[in-house]
Amino acid sequence: MTTGVAVVLQGVGVGRRAAVGPVARVQPVPAVPGDAPLVVGGEVLTGERAQEVVSRAFADVSAALAGQSRRATGTVKDVLAATAQMADDRALRSQVLTRVGAGEPVVAAVDGVVETFATMFTQAGGYLAERVTDLRSVRDRVVAAAMGLPAPGVPELTEPSVVVATDLAPADTAALDLDKVLAIVTELGGPTGHTAIIAGQLGLPCLVRVHGVTDLADGTRVAVDAASGLVTVDPDDALVAELDRRAAAERALESDTDAGATADGHTVQLLANIGTAADAVRVAGTAAEGVGLFRTEVLFLEATAEPTVAEQSAAYAAALAALPGRKVVVRTLDAGADKPLAFATQPDEENPALGVRGYRLVRTNADLVEHQLEALAQAQRSTGQAPWVMAPMIATADEARDFARRARAHGIERVGVMVEVPSAALRAAEILAEVDFVSLGTNDLAQYTMATDRLRGELADLLDPWQPAVLDLVAATARAGTQLGKPVGVCGESAADPVFALVLVGLGVTSLSMSSGALPAVRFAVRSHTLERCRELAAGALAAASAQAARDVVVDGLDPDVRAALGV
Ligand code: PEP
Ligand code: MG
Repeated sequence: MTTGVAVVLQGVGVGRRAAVGPVARVQPVPAVPGDAPLVVGGEVLTGERAQEVVSRAFADVSAALAGQSRRATGTVKDVLAATAQMADDRALRSQVLTRVGAGEPVVAAVDGVVETFATMFTQAGGYLAERVTDLRSVRDRVVAAAMGLPAPGVPELTEPSVVVATDLAPADTAALDLDKVLAIVTELGGPTGHTAIIAGQLGLPCLVRVHGVTDLADGTRVAVDAASGLVTVDPDDALVAELDRRAAAERALESDTDAGATADGHTVQLLANIGTAADAVRVAGTAAEGVGLFRTEVLFLEATAEPTVAEQSAAYAAALAALPGRKVVVRTLDAGADKPLAFATQPDEENPALGVRGYRLVRTNADLVEHQLEALAQAQRSTGQAPWVMAPMIATADEARDFARRARAHGIERVGVMVEVPSAALRAAEILAEVDFVSLGTNDLAQYTMATDRLRGELADLLDPWQPAVLDLVAATARAGTQLGKPVGVCGESAADPVFALVLVGLGVTSLSMSSGALPAVRFAVRSHTLERCRELAAGALAAASAQAARDVVVDGLDPDVRAALGV
């Protein structure tokens, strides 16, 4: 028990979980000056002999990462393999060797080349920008290996701990003894970065962008709460008890695996978001009724050339085959802005979020769209499973009609589009008239409605899906769906919020798609309310004057037991 004012650090929570435990900091990279000489066996090496040492260092680091990748599973395995590949990158290594051969000190050469690559990645933005952490982890490991220093990385955990780092590369995460990791907290990184993805896959509470967290001494007891985004130093007994109670309540919710429905039996399909066939395999082991969003661009983030129809078809077929009899909504490539694809994204766009992205690719490279639809049709034939196929970033009914025509020409049976541009929401009826279903992408819908970059964490209050203007557009889309008798899903992050999910159901949304870990709480929230009650809650939210007021009015309207079970 402690007294006095608690020190509380604010960050961005990933998911809703919480944990309490001592801090274990990832040890910083040993500081080696850029001009440090390369000394081996007491001898200073330069020229060809220095090149040999550096070349071996790259090879050793790559082999070590590849070994870790082989021992790992799932996403961890993939990202480690990608980092190992980065260490094995010929361009990276040969540029370093050239500079070392020309007499540049080893540390300065590795650092200089890596920073050039890092600048390129940062300028590319989105996913590539988030790989910069991995690139710098390769640099630190190569420098340590060349200089004969221990590999930088995570501490040996002697007790269950909250792992704290400036940023965490996949390689660091893989080295963690997961039985002893209670939570992950970082100073840097984004909510869609590797740390967040891996923590999500592992079911660990995670906070990113927690300024000042690495100043905490090892052993400091902290409470980490992803739902509130807070790290509380020396939490009091009341907070610890509250988080324990929430964790127990969440575990209890996992036992309900029935199909999604309100208390009075109104069906609400509960689906999972995936990015790879491996994700589909994982989803198969959950109570998700299928997949509401397969982000196909995730398959090809590393590809430098367009994947062949056969390669694409194999990937889609693998995902479909993993989920026999379950609904799978596949989205065609959403390249551009926060998801650049080397073979599809327009170079040098001044404003990529407003440029040739998503379905607009058809204007510059219609073949890409045609090839993907052909691959999906092949996967449909080979598996006997008909995917629902939708296009991203549709702004007009003409675009919806064009996509539907192309998709149907390939034999796709269920054709839809995403509603994530305000114009599409405002004209949802005309758009729905062209297709079989729509899915609301509330991440982008909030971004475009509120003119707020979704990657800027510090503007999160404007990006809030509870913003009245965003709610109005969701309501307009759902209303059109009800009028036309066509399904309207939601696959943005907002669907994972069990309170917001009730509003969505009340507005007429027919399916909710989210990361599979969020499903139990959403299933419980929906099951605990009648459709009529959801409608009342939605009406209250729509009538509110601000995002905060909208959320407050819905939370206040929840049964106290439900509130307690959900920890809201
Ligand atoms: C969205 O925009 O809400 C969405 C689901 O798509 P993405 O996050 O992939 O842009
Ligand atoms: Mg989107």
